[in-house]
Amino acid sequence: MKIGKFNDPWMDNGVENFYRLLDGLESCEAELTGSSMRVKIKDGEKFIKELTRAVSDKRENLIVIEEDRKTRVKKEVKKDHVLIQEEKKVGGKVALKEEIYKPEKTAETISKVFDLSEGKNTCILCGRKYDKSVKKLQQAAYPFVTKIASLSGVRSYKDGGSLSFKEYYDNLCPICYFIGILEWTDEALVYRTFPGEKSYLFMPYFGNLKDLHEFKKLCIYAGILNNSERYSNIKVNPNTQDVENTPGEYSTLLCFYEKFVENATDEIIVSNWAVLHIPFGAVKNVKIDFLNIDEGILGVIRKLKESGRLERIYSDLMRKMYFFSQNKNTIDRDITWEIQENLSKYFLLDDFRSFTNNLLPRKGGYVFFSSGVRQNLEELIFVWRWEKMGVEKEKLDSIKSVGNIVAKISENNASLLYKLDKVRNIDEFWSVLREISRKLPGLNEEKLRKIKPTALDEVIQLTKEIIEKNKDGWREVRDLIVVYASIYYSLDKLGKKSEGGEEE
Ligand SMILES: [Zn+2]
Repeated sequence: MKIGKFNDPWMDNGVENFYRLLDGLESCEAELTGSSMRVKIKDGEKFIKELTRAVSDKRENLIVIEEDRKTRVKKEVKKDHVLIQEEKKVGGKVALKEEIYKPEKTAETISKVFDLSEGKNTCILCGRKYDKSVKKLQQAAYPFVTKIASLSGVRSYKDGGSLSFKEYYDNLCPICYFIGILEWTDEALVYRTFPGEKSYLFMPYFGNLKDLHEFKKLCIYAGILNNSERYSNIKVNPNTQDVENTPGEYSTLLCFYEKFVENATDEIIVSNWAVLHIPFGAVKNVKIDFLNIDEGILGVIRKLKESGRLERIYSDLMRKMYFFSQNKNTIDRDITWEIQENLSKYFLLDDFRSFTNNLLPRKGGYVFFSSGVRQNLEELIFVWRWEKMGVEKEKLDSIKSVGNIVAKISENNASLLYKLDKVRNIDEFWSVLREISRKLPGLNEEKLRKIKPTALDEVIQLTKEIIEKNKDGWREVRDLIVVYASIYYSLDKLGKKSEGGEEE
C-alpha cells in the first residue's frame, strides 16, 4: 500500500502520525520517503491485532482525567479541541461516536479499513478507487469540511439544471478516513484551549514528510509536551508535569520555540505552521491560520539562547511584562495578557514598529517590568535590531540616552512620546528632535544629572550617517528611541512607586 503526500496540513500530519504508529509494529514494514509512505503488511491477522492495540493506546490522547469539583470523583473528559462527537458518558468514561474509538468495535472497524478491495468510488482526498466507505467525509476525519463549499455537499449546476454532487463529493476512502480520524491522537502537536472561547491546534508544516517526521520525533523525545493536560500541553520544563498558561496564539508559539530550542537538538526546526482555531459551541466552523516564522527570527531566539544572555525569551521576557493600571492601582490582567500576546506576535512576525507600540504608556497606565527583565529586553533589542544595522555598540548608548531624555520630558505628559511614535517622515523626525532639544533646559537639576545632553547631537549625527546608506534607516532610529523612552518611562514610574511616592 502506498500513501502519497497530500500537501494538506491535516492529512500530512496524519500520515506522519500513522507512520509513527506503524513503526512500532512487527506485522508490517513501513517506509517513509519525502513524498510518500509505503506499508507492507506481512501478516494480515496479526496486523489487525497489533493495530487495534496501538489505536486503543493512542485513544488515550483524546481524553484527560479530571476530578469533579463537587464530588471529587475522577472522570474522563474529552479534550476541547477534539472534533469527534461524544455520546452520553457511561460510568464516568467518555464514549465517542466513532466506532473505531469504541473499545468493543475497534478491531472490527480496523478490519473494514484495511479491506483494500478496489471499487467504483473515487476518494475526494486521495483519488484512490475504493469499494465501500467506512464513513462519509465529515469534520471528525477532516476538520476543514465546512470551509470548502464543494466538500460540504452544496449543489452545482450543469446545463442550467441543478445537480446534487453530494454523493460524489463526500466520498472518502477508508484509508483517508483512518488517517484523518487518527490524527486527533497525534502526541506531537501543540494545543492551547481558552475555556468557553476557543482552542488552538498547532500543526507543523513541511514540504517533505521525512523532515516533518524528524521534527515531530524531536518534539516527543525532548519531553516538552504533556498530553494529559486539558488546556495546554507545553510543559514548563521537561522534569515536571506542569504546563504553561500562555495568553494567546502567538505567545503559545513563542513559548513552544523557547522549549524546543532549550531541550531539543536544533538539526531541524519548523518555520511553517497551520494553526486551527476551533471554537466552543455547537457549530464548529474551524478557521485555519497559516503562519510563516522567518528564519532570521528563529536565529535571534537561538542566538540569545546560545549566548546565555537571554535563554528563555518567553518565560524571562514576554511573560514578565505587565500592565499597571493607575485607575485600579494594580495590574490589569486583561491588558497584561493582550500586551504579552502582542509582544510575542510582533516579535515572531519581525515587526519592530508594532512591537514598540505595545510598550508605549497608555491612557490610565503603563507597561512595567523589573530591572532584570529590562536587561533581557535590551538584549533582545540588541540582537534583533541593533546588530544588523552595522553600527558600533557605543552609538546605541546615545540612542538610549535620548530615550531617557524623552522619558524624563514625558514624565507628566506623554504627548511628546506619542508624537515621536507618530513621526512619518524625516522632516517630522528632525522637528521632534528639535522640540526635545528646546525642552531640555526645562528639566530640573536632579533629572538633568541622570541624562547626557550631548546624546542628542550624537543621535542627529548618527541618523545622518544611517540615511546616507539607507534613506529609510531613520525609522529604525525612531523606533529604538521610542522603545528606550518607554523602558525609561516605566522604570521611572516604578522607581517612584518603590520610594513610596506615586505622584498621582
Ligand atoms: Zn483517500
